[in-house]
Amino acid sequence: PSPTPSPLLANLNPEQLAAVTLPSGHALILAGAGSGKTRVLTTRIAWLLQNGLATPGGILAVTFTNKAAKEMVARLSAMLPVNVRGMWIGTFHGLCNRLLRAHHKAAGLPQAFQILDTQDQLSAIKRLCKQYNVDTERFVPKQLQYFIAGCKEEGMRPGDVPTHDSDARKKVEIYQLYEEQCQREGVVDFGELMLRSFELLRDNDPIRAHYQRRFAHILVDEFQDTNKLQYAWLKQLAGDEVAGHFEPQGSVMAVGDDDQSIYAFRGARVGNMQDFVREFDVERQIKLEQNYRSYSNILDSANALISHNSKRLGKNLRTEQGPGEPVRVYEAASDLQEAQWMVDEIRQLVRSDGVARQEVAILYRSNAQSRVIETALFNAAVPYRVYGGLRFFERAEIKHALAYLRLLENPQDDTSFLRVVNFPPRGIGARSLELLQDAANGAGCSLHDAVSTISGKAGSNLTAFVAQIDVLREQTQGQTLRAIIEQMLEASGLLEHYRAERDGQDRVENLEELVNAAESFVMLEGFGRDAVALPLDEHGEPLTQSPASQGLDLNAPLLDAPLSGPPGVDQDTGETLSPLGAFLTHAALEAGDNQAQAGQDAVQLMTVHASKGLEFDVVFIGGLEEGLCPHENALSEQGGIEEERRLMYVAITRARKRLYLSHSQTRMLHGQTRYAMKSRFFDELPESALKWITPKQSAFGRTAPFSEAASAYGTSARGQFGLNSERFASPPVPPQKLPAAHGLSAGKKVFHTKFGEGKVLAIEGTGDDARAQVSFARHGTKWLALAVAKLTLVD
Ligand code: ATP
Ligand code: MG
Repeated sequence: PSPTPSPLLANLNPEQLAAVTLPSGHALILAGAGSGKTRVLTTRIAWLLQNGLATPGGILAVTFTNKAAKEMVARLSAMLPVNVRGMWIGTFHGLCNRLLRAHHKAAGLPQAFQILDTQDQLSAIKRLCKQYNVDTERFVPKQLQYFIAGCKEEGMRPGDVPTHDSDARKKVEIYQLYEEQCQREGVVDFGELMLRSFELLRDNDPIRAHYQRRFAHILVDEFQDTNKLQYAWLKQLAGDEVAGHFEPQGSVMAVGDDDQSIYAFRGARVGNMQDFVREFDVERQIKLEQNYRSYSNILDSANALISHNSKRLGKNLRTEQGPGEPVRVYEAASDLQEAQWMVDEIRQLVRSDGVARQEVAILYRSNAQSRVIETALFNAAVPYRVYGGLRFFERAEIKHALAYLRLLENPQDDTSFLRVVNFPPRGIGARSLELLQDAANGAGCSLHDAVSTISGKAGSNLTAFVAQIDVLREQTQGQTLRAIIEQMLEASGLLEHYRAERDGQDRVENLEELVNAAESFVMLEGFGRDAVALPLDEHGEPLTQSPASQGLDLNAPLLDAPLSGPPGVDQDTGETLSPLGAFLTHAALEAGDNQAQAGQDAVQLMTVHASKGLEFDVVFIGGLEEGLCPHENALSEQGGIEEERRLMYVAITRARKRLYLSHSQTRMLHGQTRYAMKSRFFDELPESALKWITPKQSAFGRTAPFSEAASAYGTSARGQFGLNSERFASPPVPPQKLPAAHGLSAGKKVFHTKFGEGKVLAIEGTGDDARAQVSFARHGTKWLALAVAKLTLVD
């Protein structure tokens, strides 16, 4: 009698059904995006349990991200009344951690071993270099970190590393010392988690035998992104090498898609798929060819794009859903305008089409791209959540930079002081800081002011730090926000620090993005010279940001419109925040305020890398420009373009119903407005599936051709050109001369009724919006709103 049909299997197609109900043995499921690979994997676990073919303890399932692991557990609990908590479902790192905690003695670790993140790891290496007088010019700590991580990924201990010259021998010696130090302190880094648990299995026959017996079923999702060591780890759990031949015990099911391999930079090896088939004598290979996720316009685009890759294992995807909406392509005049368009489109979808915000994802190639989009969402009060990364102003490197800026603004800010006093490291240890804090407590002053009371080496390091900040403050007096931030990034050593770091590229881009944030802020909030030019809409009418959200009358002249502007002008003295002070307030508000509450319906922002395996009704992919996607770094790497194309394929295939692609003519990158060409990948998409949305009026249609306009105003007007035309899709406005601000200019002596005599350092803005930075003999430097502060000229 045939077994009763299970509701578990009701909605599977024949290939999926075959995969879910395979008898024991090894299998590779190789299939394209959205074909149900993850669904098959999860359903198979449920089916094995339901039919008594496995116990919860007998299953080990590896997924790629914590989010994916959680989702799998949630789906399983929904399918079966089983206690999933005891099951081994997780990421490689998560499972290794579990293994090492369970067998810490055999692994030679204390039960409570601590895990070092990348930052901690680097500090540990530096400490060690100091202790052993390593020449850090020659052996740069960050490069040592890179070297050590690379060795571990390859499964090599110090003794295994080839040493052909004295430099190589020295590096290995340091690797050895680093290991001893970690061991002494009972800490492990990420690479160590993986390597140590691999060795635990390899070197302990009883433990390995135990787990091999226990895990009758091993299932691996996103197999195309496993690296060499991860594959070796899986083999330890699956069986033993006997007389040169691998003899697996449990059943391994691997699912993957070679077209979605996007982690080569972390050592991922698509070759693991072929190795798996050979070494495990995999007899069952199942292809799933029906896509259940997307309409055919979306799928056709993905298929056409990926067909341009040469190294493919080859598979097809079809869908039974109709063509659906065309893929919409938008060309923006600027990154700001692109972000604004996304936000407008999303509001429209939510309002008119009843789309839930959490079903909308905005994907980008680099983390730094999120900043402009976040600001646009923030200004329009659209809740959003950033996945697989922090929101821009919450990122560690941005917080460090902001702390330096706060210290420039206010030397007494102890929190900021402590945040960066030893970052980048300056040899100021915990003991010195303890001394300093005691001194400050005793004298009832700030840390900054207590520095002069500390003597000895600690004292001189602290004094050097404080002097550095004070000099920078002095030097940046009267300068633009942009100049202040740029100098701070260099002088603090932050840029240099992250430039040299193994995974630092992203952080450097974020720091540079901070300059862009300041530029836009200056413009939007009416600070700075750029405020002079009026942003215009396509009818030549003055416009401010998000007019709809502010309920503004578009016909009103800009200066009459309520600027959301800088907070608080003191009505007695006219004292106001400096541009820097106002920017810092803005950053604090934006960091703290708009993050969607847990469970709140919010738009999802993430990098393409973080979107792997996920799906959304509506997907926006922005910044599809040469240099960004494909990323400029990929151009010089072998296979780089193919990897970028796979990234784009992953991004496109996240969409169920609607897909939007966009690129921009100009973009602020590395603190400069760049003219960007649209990505080559557009040429690889089928024209029949696309619909080009033309902006209501070409941004530059009414004036000189774009290139002319660009060169006419060139670099000298770069900030202005970029900001105005960009943000508002208006014609470029030629640089204007600043009208004299209330007869003041830098260098003039003035008198203020409360603050007395002072000297003007800088003037910003015009008319009612004009401010002056004035250095008063007795009250220090202040920013004054000229419309309010009654200053008289002294000659
Ligand atoms: P990716 O490569 O992006 O990880 P995948 O191959 O893992 O994709 P799934 O996420 O498992 O694909 O499935 C994609 C979507 O299709 C999901 O919403 C899933 O529920 C749905 N789906 C899968 N199989 C079927 C089916 N037989 N009937 C209806 N819907 C299905
Ligand atoms: Mg999947």
